[in-house]
Amino acid sequence: MIIFKYAEPLARYIQQQKAADKQVGFVPTMGALHNGHIALIERSKKETSITVCSIFVNPTQFNNASDYQLYPNTIEQDIVRLEAAGCDVLFLPSIAEMYPNGTNNLEKYDLGYLETLLEGKYRPGHFQGVCQVMNRLLTMVQAHKLFMGQKDYQQCMVVSRLLQLMQSPTGLITCPTLREPDGLAMSSRNLRLSPEDRQKATTIYKCLTLIKQECNQGVFWPVIKEKAEKLLTDAGFRIDYVELADANTLQPATATMATIYQGPRVALIAAFLHDVRLIDNMLV
Ligand code: AMP
Repeated sequence: MIIFKYAEPLARYIQQQKAADKQVGFVPTMGALHNGHIALIERSKKETSITVCSIFVNPTQFNNASDYQLYPNTIEQDIVRLEAAGCDVLFLPSIAEMYPNGTNNLEKYDLGYLETLLEGKYRPGHFQGVCQVMNRLLTMVQAHKLFMGQKDYQQCMVVSRLLQLMQSPTGLITCPTLREPDGLAMSSRNLRLSPEDRQKATTIYKCLTLIKQECNQGVFWPVIKEKAEKLLTDAGFRIDYVELADANTLQPATATMATIYQGPRVALIAAFLHDVRLIDNMLV
């Protein structure tokens, strides 16, 4: 695996590969890699000939300073895991490389309502930060295909919007969420859970499964929502949201949607255990 710290030699290397007719796949991450990330690398390896992974903990997408400071860093293990997975290139830029003019007064992206609901509402500025870093990374890497996880459902929609705004030729491929055996979605933030909270964390998956079952039985959405919220609060969670939405637009469910709506829906949950914020979703 070749490791690049600077964008210019990376871009030159990728140009050479493209000139040799190689398809380039890109997997952007913030490190503390787990099997969910590795599944994206494997998918990219299947569908392209050169896989580029980036590890960069992007300061502009954190709306909470301590979440940024406490974000896990396991770079040595990450490099070993990427090597073992057969990743071809790791891009490991510094903040100065990604933000040469600093992180103030940055361009604004028109993300429409995606920025005001769910994650957009509870993490103000988060998706602007995601777009900042993704625009830069996509421009540097110039991949044919971009692989991202359904775990971050709304992020996939935001990046799809960004690709449109950038008129980028890169195609987004959304990959399924990898889970622990007890159902907890794999996440770098799981490393920050105490053993006791790690046990409780599985309640999110239980709620999503319950929502899916009851929606498909035609139960009234407000009833399901109340049940799921109670399960979460009883387990010690502080809830940001438990929502059911149209899977294509993310517009929230109306009271009757669970009973009469036939289109694709997605259930989404964001909640804290102590100071660790977990998110997950499930297609219903
Ligand atoms: P992160 O390092 O958390 O920024 O995530 C990097 C990429 O991995 C994003 O596209 C995530 O959606 C994806 N990802 C994170 N967790 C999982 C998971 N459990 N299964 C599949 N993809 C994931």
